[in-house]
Amino acid sequence: MELIDRHGRVATDLRVSLTDRCNLRCQYCMPAEGLDWLPTEDTLTDDELNRLIRIGVEMLGIRDVRFTGGEPLLRRSLPSIVATTKALPSRPRTAMTSNGLGLKHTAGALAAAGLDRVNISLDTTDPATFERITRRNRLHDVIDGLAAAHEAGLRPVKINAVLLRGINDHEAPDLLRWSTKHEYELRFIEQMPLDAQHGWSREAMVTADETLALLGEHFRLTPLDGRGSAPAEKFLVDDGPHTVGIIGSVTKPFCGDCNRVRLTADGQIMNCLFAREESDLRASMRAGASDVQIAERWAAAMMTKLPGHGIDDPTFLQSDRPMSAIGG
Ligand code: SAM
Repeated sequence: MELIDRHGRVATDLRVSLTDRCNLRCQYCMPAEGLDWLPTEDTLTDDELNRLIRIGVEMLGIRDVRFTGGEPLLRRSLPSIVATTKALPSRPRTAMTSNGLGLKHTAGALAAAGLDRVNISLDTTDPATFERITRRNRLHDVIDGLAAAHEAGLRPVKINAVLLRGINDHEAPDLLRWSTKHEYELRFIEQMPLDAQHGWSREAMVTADETLALLGEHFRLTPLDGRGSAPAEKFLVDDGPHTVGIIGSVTKPFCGDCNRVRLTADGQIMNCLFAREESDLRASMRAGASDVQIAERWAAAMMTKLPGHGIDDPTFLQSDRPMSAIGG
């Protein structure tokens, strides 16, 4: 069995949200007061989570498992979940998307458990801008986390940045300079309509083309070929060796090459970040479904995957789940 959809795309990359909670309040993601978190009884236990990952990897062709959230480092059992995943016979590639808070203390344990790589989210290296965007004064912790990840060999250490007009867009060249100096691979991601407050607007979004133009004033950027199913268009910076990625999720969608599927912390399969339908594997599991029945339900959930996210469609409706509750 494989996770094929009606358009011939095969999902091999599983994004697993370990919690919907987060210790930052990035303004493009969450309101200042946070959200109503998932009740504990609705959240998958470690055993349930490990079982679904095993079914995905052993029965459905998943080759890459990325842990995300909310903030995945808030799940205390993360090292053991990573180790259980990595111990599967096909040894899937493992990665994590994190804000890096506390990674200073856990990077070594995560690498030892079998985590291969990390993407750390960082939109600025200016403490005041960081606090303005995230509503927390924690820039130093992210910087320490990045260094610890590099030290622990979780390479390449990638940085994900979102540019916000009038807030940090003018800092994009500085962020690239800083990232290359520290050997981190920077990628800019267009802001998407995924915030809980529904405050996204196309006009406010800094587009991929604008980002390229902003950087182009300071660096010689040479496009690299071979994007494949990777979302980032990559550019060599000043003839290399460093690169920068620009992800035009909205203006240059890569849905036709999408190989992803998402499992939320409460056990729902989402076949797209923008899906409005979910498939409840937690209910199946708790009702006593066998591995084969769960795998069949999961495979069936892929059949409704739309050809594109449709943000440009006048009928586009933002998902009821914000990014933090899906797993970015
Ligand atoms: N807490 C982790 C982190 O900070 O990376 C993982 C979850 S977070 C939702 C994953 C990524 O989604 C982060 O890089 C964050 O910047 C990005 N993100 C959140 N809301 C977004 C939005 N509306 N548009 C684009 N990216 C967004």
